[in-house]
Parts: sequence; C-alpha cells; structure tokens
Amino acid sequence: RQEQYRALRDVPAVTRDGVRIGLHLNAGLLVDLAHLQETGAEGIGLFRTELQFMVAERMPSAVEQQNLYEAVFAATGDKPVTIRTLDIGGDKILPYMPKLEEENPALGWRAIRIGLDRPALLRVQLRALLKASGGRPLKIMFPMVATVDEFVRAKAIVDREKAHLRRHGHPLPSDCRLGAMIEVPSLLFQLDALTSHADFLSVGSNDLMQFLFAVDRENRRVADRFDPLSAPALRAFRLIAERANAAGCPVTVCGEIGGRPLEAMALIGLGFRDLSMSPAAIGPVKAMVLSMDAAAVGAMIDAELTRSGDGESLRPALAAFAKAH
Ligand code: PEP
Ligand code: MG
Repeated sequence: RQEQYRALRDVPAVTRDGVRIGLHLNAGLLVDLAHLQETGAEGIGLFRTELQFMVAERMPSAVEQQNLYEAVFAATGDKPVTIRTLDIGGDKILPYMPKLEEENPALGWRAIRIGLDRPALLRVQLRALLKASGGRPLKIMFPMVATVDEFVRAKAIVDREKAHLRRHGHPLPSDCRLGAMIEVPSLLFQLDALTSHADFLSVGSNDLMQFLFAVDRENRRVADRFDPLSAPALRAFRLIAERANAAGCPVTVCGEIGGRPLEAMALIGLGFRDLSMSPAAIGPVKAMVLSMDAAAVGAMIDAELTRSGDGESLRPALAAFAKAH
C-alpha cells in the first residue's frame, strides 16, 4: 500500500470524470513541512499557528514570530500556505496565560473572540505575518468566526496593520487574501454575506460537527452519537459548497473528515474541490479520487438526501456505492 501511494506522489488528483481536486496538508510545526515534498501535496491548506505557541515556554516575541513565519515560507517555497491566526481557548491552552474559569470553554472566550476583544495579540501576529511575507502571496484565515461582522472587523485590523507597514516602508505581500473558517453553524445562515466579504472559506468540520450536533469533539462517550455522513451533516456541507461555488468563492475542507476516503468522496460529490488533511491521508485520498466519478457520487447523494426524511446515515449507501464503482 505505502509503495502504491508513493507512486502516486506526482500524479495529479483528477476524478474519472475529469474533476481536478486540490489535496493540501494540515500543519502546525516546522517539522510538518517536510511532508510537502514527500506527499506531493499542493500546499499547506491549514497552518495552525497556535501549536508553536503551545509548545513554547513563554509568549513568542514579535521577532520570534516573524522568524517562525519566515521559516515557514522558506520551507514551503512556491507552494501556497494558508495561515490561521491563533486559535486559543477552548481545548487549546497556553501554559503561560492565566487560565480562564469558564463553564463551557468550547463556547467561551476563544480564537477570534479574544483577537477582537484584545487586539494587541492579534496585531502582533498579523504584523509578523505581513512582514515575513513581504513580496510573496499571503493567505490568512480567522478561526471560530460566528458572524460576518466579526470577519469584517478582523479584516479591518489587517488593513490597519498593512497601512502601518506601508507608512514605514516595509514591503507588503504581493497578494493578501483573507478568509473565514466555517466552524460555527450560525455562518450557514450568512453564507451569501460572508462570500461577499471573504476571499476564501475553509470548513473546520471538527468544530462544525461539534457545534451542529452539540457533541463534544473530545468526549468519547458521545462521539458515536452522530455521523458526519448523516443526512443533516451532508445537507450542511452541501449548502456551503453550493453557496461558495455560486459566489465563485474558493472553499476548502480542512477538518479531519477530508482525510478519510469515504468522507472525502462524499465531499467531492457535494461540490468541494479542495481538501486539506494530515500527511498520511494524502495517498489513500488520492487513490480514491482517481477511482471516483464526482458527478455520479453527487447524483447518488442528492437522490438519497431527497429520499431521507430523518437523520439517518448515508454511510452504508456510500460504502456500497464506493464498492460497486
Ligand atoms: C476544525 O475545527 O475542523 C479545524 C480544522 O480546526 P481545529 O481542529 O484546529 O479546531
Ligand atoms: Mg476548529
């Protein structure tokens, strides 16, 4: 198997009916970037910046952050990297930050909420990113956005930092794109406004499923109670793909489900064209892409979703379809 996957490294991921699929890597530490060459992935679809902060003994300084991002860009060369701003709070704790006493940390003061309320930390990070990427393209996305207004405010902070650097004669990124992660279900009902403001979207399915089904992603006791291949979950994914594609807004799925072949097959059938995953998933997902027919899977899911009135899982039907084709 491993040999077979290695042989696929330079084979483009194209479905049998000619749909090109972008396969990208999730990363968070510099060591992860070596997998870019070895897997033949197109780029880094999600760089989780908080990992570097979580392994540090104290808050990384502005210069340390800039050095880190320069190292990231040096290691990725011409391949695109999507950097996510600090996603802390919830289950992601910085040991050197005062611990918050919150009843429900997953629903509490975290990620972009901290970034907007106490913008100093976000500003330092954005400035480090903008400086490190001078002269090259930069893609930044914000985690845990719940309203379009939050995204617009985060964007304004980037604009202020850009203006500051321009005034001081620093080279700016050649192309700076800003995106929102779709992890909070409220965004499902703001998709048209969101696509009009965002340059791209990225579906954080780990959190989106957690909040859609009210199931703690870390709690094994409840983890099996829902299936991301159930009708309600697939309808949510389909809605995102439809609205993003209709608006011409690029959209990636960067949660764990994009790295599982059967789930990836369903996502492609629903209209997603870019998936970001762990390095070990690239080979199996690419092998699946090469053997699937995107239009046929899409038609099959649409038929099942029309028929299915309840919350049942399409997993058996998808597995049978995958086997038969
Ligand atoms: C997600 O929520 O799906 C995601 C990609 O972000 P994280 O797993 O880092 O929360
Ligand atoms: Mg998340």
